[in-house]
Amino acid sequence: MNDLYDIVIIGAGVSGTYIARELSRYDLKILILDKDNDVANETTSANSAIIHAGYDPKPGTAMAKFNAPGNLMFDKVCKELDVPFKRCGSLVIGFDDHDKETIETIYQRGLTNGVPDIRILNHDEVLEIEPNLNPDVKLALYAPTAGIINPWELAIALAENAIDNGAELKLETRVTDIKKEDDSYLIITDKGNYLTKYVVNCAGVYADDIHNMVAKPSYSIRPRKGNYYVLDNSVKNLVDHVIFQAPTKKGKGVLIAPTVDGNFLIGPDSDFIDDKNDNSTGMDNLNYIKNSGLKSCPSIPFDKVIRSFAGLRATSDHEDFIIGEVEDSKGFFEVGGFESPGLSSIPAVAEYVVDLINQRHGGLRKKDDFNPTRRPVIRFNHLPQEVKAKLIQKDPAYANVICRCETITEAEIVDCIHRKAGARSLKAVKKRVRPGAGRCQGGFCGPKVVEILARELGKDWSDIPYDSSKAYILTGETKEESGGENL
Ligand SMILES: Cc1cc2nc3c(=O)[nH]c(=O)nc-3n(C[C@H](O)[C@H](O)[C@H](O)COP(=O)(O)OP(=O)(O)OC[C@H]3O[C@@H](n4cnc5c(N)ncnc54)[C@H](O)[C@@H]3O)c2cc1C
Repeated sequence: MNDLYDIVIIGAGVSGTYIARELSRYDLKILILDKDNDVANETTSANSAIIHAGYDPKPGTAMAKFNAPGNLMFDKVCKELDVPFKRCGSLVIGFDDHDKETIETIYQRGLTNGVPDIRILNHDEVLEIEPNLNPDVKLALYAPTAGIINPWELAIALAENAIDNGAELKLETRVTDIKKEDDSYLIITDKGNYLTKYVVNCAGVYADDIHNMVAKPSYSIRPRKGNYYVLDNSVKNLVDHVIFQAPTKKGKGVLIAPTVDGNFLIGPDSDFIDDKNDNSTGMDNLNYIKNSGLKSCPSIPFDKVIRSFAGLRATSDHEDFIIGEVEDSKGFFEVGGFESPGLSSIPAVAEYVVDLINQRHGGLRKKDDFNPTRRPVIRFNHLPQEVKAKLIQKDPAYANVICRCETITEAEIVDCIHRKAGARSLKAVKKRVRPGAGRCQGGFCGPKVVEILARELGKDWSDIPYDSSKAYILTGETKEESGGENL
């Protein structure tokens, strides 16, 4: 006998977790499934982390409908869930008459899309607020509502809050097929089957594959890869706003963005690829990013790069988000083609999807005891000295600094393992509290984090993976590996 759920959400990226959290306001049995061993392991963990103001999408598209309203919803949700978010504003800079024309077009789009307070700045005004930009800059579109966030931290917080409000999360559970039954769907996974009234497909670059399990094929997704550089957080005052170049057909172009954690991101480029699992970086791509970034800001210190990474945009042949109930499969909802500005739009998209489910259900019943907040996260390094001293008195593990680059303590790592949707891998700990995100990239703290994970989870060191469950760090004793020889 299969468990009966009201709603199964496929995918625990930012779209699945946001929708789960909004649905957990209602009296519903909710299950979130993800094939990976952590929340937000795919596109949500590799993007520009910008909450776009909303001037970019063409009026009339779903992107335009959801971006600007979604942007304005971030202050509330981030306050409730204790997720760092900063409205730093953005500039789209232009160097010639062609860029000027583009900037004027997106300014008009912004007005049509309802983006608040946008305006065009001249050469002097731009350099006054961003003195490190290329002095050849002619003008810029200024959007004060643009912001920066840590997208995976948002998704983790949303999952945690949804679970606190009764939702279930099953990781390492891959959906392999879906069968339509009379008034329900049977979700077939590699870990068992689940019966549900409604399904929400939030499977990122795989959303078309999930769609095709139940419905007539109506769109296809071909990933568009973007590579990035990350600069060390010793680089200060490079830029205060997110700096874009005038967009082209290929997208928003190479940007320079501060992050909420004090680093700078430079990227992305844009290349279609065929393999939905390929997030390798490429030297040619990174060189293009370097040259393009230097055009915006000639003083970017590329000798301070600590990391490169790549993310996959879920670009569909509709060139827009595909959001709603699937026509030939009532009760099956989806968030497809959810490329940029998906992150920025998700609060408004989630509200819309919940409204559709509400209508299909004929009225959902609100819970009286929904709790919109999550237990705050202690960020030890950011606390005043006297608060640090009190914490150490209460729990000496706050005095044991595991990550020297980012000053992350053992107590913070232990907490992130034992929270709902807690960390199970080295990367999952890095995503939550940042050991390994600094200059040494885990060279020093990696083994110590593995040791803490093994101790707290009651596992052997060799059972702690780096990332997905097959990416093991330790495969056995050194002497065994070398056939008993001393190395
Ligand atoms: C280079 C780049 C830059 C971007 N920059 C921005 C930006 O600055 N601002 C912005 O607003 N947006 C940006 N975006 C877009 C944004 O990142 C996405 O819209 C958002 O992260 C998509 O989230 P998601 O939950 O839909 O997908 P994902 O995060 O990919 O989540 C999908 C989940 O589904 C799971 N899944 C897939 N198949 C199955 C299956 N068969 N069974 C179980 N689980 C499955 C996956 O494991 C995954 O966890 C950018 C994207 C990229 C790639």
